[in-house]
Amino acid sequence: MTTPRDYYEILGIGRESGEAEIKSAYRKLALKYHPDRNPNDKSAEDKFKEATQAYEILKNPDKRSSYDQFGHAGLGQGGGFGAGGFGGFGGGFDVSDALRAFMRDFGGGSVFEDLFGMGGGAGSRRGNRGEDLRVTLKLTLEEITSGVEKSIKVKRLVKCNDCSGSGVAAGSSKKTCGQCRGAGQVRRISKTFLGTVQQIATCDVCRGTGEIISDPCRSCRGEGRIRGESNVKVNVPAGVSSGNYMTIDGMGNMAAHGGEPGDLLAVFKEKEHDYFVRNGDHIICELSISFTTAALGGMVSVRTIDGEYELKIPSGTQPGKVIKLKGKGIPHLNRHGRGDQLVHLVVWVPTRLSPDEKEILNKLSEQENMIPPKGNKSFFEKLRQSLGV
Ligand SMILES: [Zn+2]
Ligand SMILES: [Zn+2]
Repeated sequence: MTTPRDYYEILGIGRESGEAEIKSAYRKLALKYHPDRNPNDKSAEDKFKEATQAYEILKNPDKRSSYDQFGHAGLGQGGGFGAGGFGGFGGGFDVSDALRAFMRDFGGGSVFEDLFGMGGGAGSRRGNRGEDLRVTLKLTLEEITSGVEKSIKVKRLVKCNDCSGSGVAAGSSKKTCGQCRGAGQVRRISKTFLGTVQQIATCDVCRGTGEIISDPCRSCRGEGRIRGESNVKVNVPAGVSSGNYMTIDGMGNMAAHGGEPGDLLAVFKEKEHDYFVRNGDHIICELSISFTTAALGGMVSVRTIDGEYELKIPSGTQPGKVIKLKGKGIPHLNRHGRGDQLVHLVVWVPTRLSPDEKEILNKLSEQENMIPPKGNKSFFEKLRQSLGV
């Protein structure tokens, strides 16, 4: 086991930092290295885990004072995160534990937590528990707008039926581990310059189970779990965004040698749309109109997420004008109502003209009304106005 880095150093704060400073330093790091922002980036994931571990210790006054006195050794005796996976350093602390801890304190507010049933803290699960699994659920903008029930197949470790998850062959039984006498943990006393430090370590003979299987089940080789597949239904509420996720209880891996299964984290990912761009709960699109329509005004058809919509173009419409269709955007996730659709108008100029058309346009161009005024508002000012900011 390598010595972990200093927790204050990880968060980049001084040893006298207060609670608010710890929280804000961690939040900054967590947002930067969050797995959803750094997909498939192992080093970012490790930094996210490391920062979360540091945060979990320093935000807790008891653990912090123990750490301040004894360093990492002071956290060895269950002073960490309880037996449910948080105990070790670098070992048991899974990225899903880190995600859970982050969600608990920062995850989009309490509404999000309530909605997604993220109740219970990181330390609330104890005992033998299988690993959490993570799947990415790709959603179209249409599915996000309406909400959708998705059926997914999840490859996971399931309970071995031949031994009912015990890992013991039929007719045989488990024996209590001699080294730890069934405790699953052994106490180690080491002398350091700080004095005698007691550490609790997982028993290496029984690997923490407290029991020895002398005649393992052949189907699962004593693991109590085998490879399997489950159909999982995920009810995706309308209005989710990429990076939001739902926890489906008990659909992670079954624990080895019997116990509780882990959870499944279904992380949402929005598919790129061929026509719309999403901005928060607003939908943005571009609509080309003819320059005669721009000058004369008229009705044009524009695509919305709900279908075609007849849009009135006022006469004298300038290119770049944005027309807001109220309530035609994405439903808000945690409150009533929907965002808007912003139709960005582009005036299309024909590229090929017949001689007749040329003649008409030539005549038109001589008219006084066809000469643009000088001193137009700048592009940015117009954009600001049309967005109403
Ligand atoms: Zn043992
Ligand atoms: Zn078995």
